[in-house]
Amino acid sequence: MSLPLVAVVGRPNVGKSMLVNRIAQADEAIVHEMRGVTRDRSYHVADWNGVKFTLVDTGGIEMGDEDAFQASIRHQAFTAVAQADVIVFLVDGRAGINADDEEVARILRKGDKPVLLAVNKLDTPGRVDEMWEFYQLGLGDPWPVSAIHGHGTGDLLDEVVVHLRAAIEAGSGAQVADAGVNVAIIGRPNAGKSSLTNKLTDAERSIVSDVAGTTRDAIDSFVTHEGRPYTIVDTAGLRRKSQIDEDVEYYGFVRAMRAIDRADVALLVIDGTLGLTDQDQRVARFAADRGCAMAIILNKWDLVEGPEAKAEVRERIADRLMFVRYAPVVAISALTGKNVQRVWDVVDKAYASFRSTISTSQLNAWLAEVREFGHTVSHGKAVLRMKYVTQTGTEPPEFTFFVNRPDLVDDNFERYLENRLRTRFDLEGTPVRLKFKKKD
Ligand code: GDP
Ligand code: GDP
Repeated sequence: MSLPLVAVVGRPNVGKSMLVNRIAQADEAIVHEMRGVTRDRSYHVADWNGVKFTLVDTGGIEMGDEDAFQASIRHQAFTAVAQADVIVFLVDGRAGINADDEEVARILRKGDKPVLLAVNKLDTPGRVDEMWEFYQLGLGDPWPVSAIHGHGTGDLLDEVVVHLRAAIEAGSGAQVADAGVNVAIIGRPNAGKSSLTNKLTDAERSIVSDVAGTTRDAIDSFVTHEGRPYTIVDTAGLRRKSQIDEDVEYYGFVRAMRAIDRADVALLVIDGTLGLTDQDQRVARFAADRGCAMAIILNKWDLVEGPEAKAEVRERIADRLMFVRYAPVVAISALTGKNVQRVWDVVDKAYASFRSTISTSQLNAWLAEVREFGHTVSHGKAVLRMKYVTQTGTEPPEFTFFVNRPDLVDDNFERYLENRLRTRFDLEGTPVRLKFKKKD
C-alpha cells in the first residue's frame, strides 16, 4: 500500500481504462464498447524503469443528469489532486477540448501535484499539428499517445517516472499514496451495495438509481473516517433489466472477484428480505480462499419485521455461511443509515485481526494447554505430537505447527485447532492459515 500513486483522470470515453491497461500490460480492467456499462475503475501495480507504482484509472460516472455528472468529474479531479503523486490528465485528441476538460484542467492547475496532459487517440504518429489546441488547457506540453496502439506511452511513462522519483526523493511519495484499508463491497445486484457505499462515503461518489437499465461503474472512493484512510470499492457496476443481462451478470462476478483480490476487508452485502444465493456463497468462499478479512452485512433490515423473522433470517444465513463463521454479521439499513456506524467498527475490527501478530511465547503457552486438555490424534500406534507453534505470516495470520507426523493432521483436527486458537486469541473477521511441518 505504500507505492506512489499515479492517477489517470479525464472525462468518460477518452480512453482512460485502455491507457491504464496498456501501461499495466495486463488485460485486467474490463474494456467494453458500450459506454458506461462495464467499465471498471481499477488499480494496477506497474513498473517502469525500475520504479514501481500504483496506477489508478479513475473511471467515471456515466449518467444523464448533467449536474451530478459534472459534480462527479470535479470530485474525481479533486480526489486525484489530494491522493496522487502524479496525475495523468487524458483528453480525446479526436473530439478535442470541451467544457468538462476545461473544468478538470482548472482544478488540476490549482492543485500542487505534477500533471501530465496526454492527448489520446492520435493513432497516426507524427501528426503533431493536432496538438496545438491542447496548449490552451494551460498544463504545458501535451503528450500525444494512442492507447490502442501504444504509441507515445513509453515517452509519457518516462516523464511520469521522472516526477515520481522527485516525489520519492522529496519523501512525499509513499505517504501520500497510502490508500488505506481497502474495503470491497460485494454482493448481488440490488442488495444495496451502492446505497451502503453512499452512506460510507457521504453520498458524493456513487449514485443510486431505481431507473431500469441505469448504467453504473464500479467505483473506488477514498475516504477518511476518524482520521484513518480507506478505499471503498463499490462493485455494483452492473445494471438490471437491460438487454445485456448476461454480460452484466458475468462481469459483475468477475468484478467482485477482482475487487476481492486487492481487498483487505470484503463486506458481503445481503438483501435481508431475500437471503443468501449460491452466488453469494461462491463469492464468500472465494474471499475466504483469497484470505481477505470479511464481514456480512445484512441489509434492508428495516423491511424485516418482528424479532422472529429477524432471528430466522440470521439463522438461515449463519447456516449457509458456516465456512466463514469468523465473519461478524451486522444488520443495517443502508437506506435509513441505521447501524451503518457499526459497519466501520467491524471493518476496523476485521482489519486489526487480519494484521494481528501473536508472540511465539503466547502461542506456545496456548499450545501447552491444548496438549494437556485437547484430544489425542492417533493412527494405529502413531500419536501426533505437537512440539511448537509460531506465527509465520500475516494478512491473514498464518501459524506453523511443528509436529512429529504432519500426515496425522486431518481437517477435523485442523478445525478443532482453529477453534481453540480463536477462543483464546481475538481473530474475529479474519481467516487464518494453519500449516504443519515435520519435526522429530
Ligand atoms: P474511459 O471511459 O476513459 O475509460 O475510456 P475507454 O478506455 O473505455 O475507451 C473509450 C473508447 O475509446 C473505447 O471505445 C476505446 O476503444 C476507444 N479508444 C481508447 N483509446 C483509443 C485510442 O488510442 N485510439 C482510438 N482510436 N480509440 C481509442
Ligand atoms: P446494488 O445494486 O447492490 O448497488 O443496490 P442499490 O444500492 O442500488 O439498492 C437497490 C435498491 O434497494 C434501491 O432501490 C435502494 O433504494 C434499495 N435499498 C438499498 N438499501 C436498502 C435498505 O436498507 N432498505 C430498503 N428498504 N431499501 C434499500
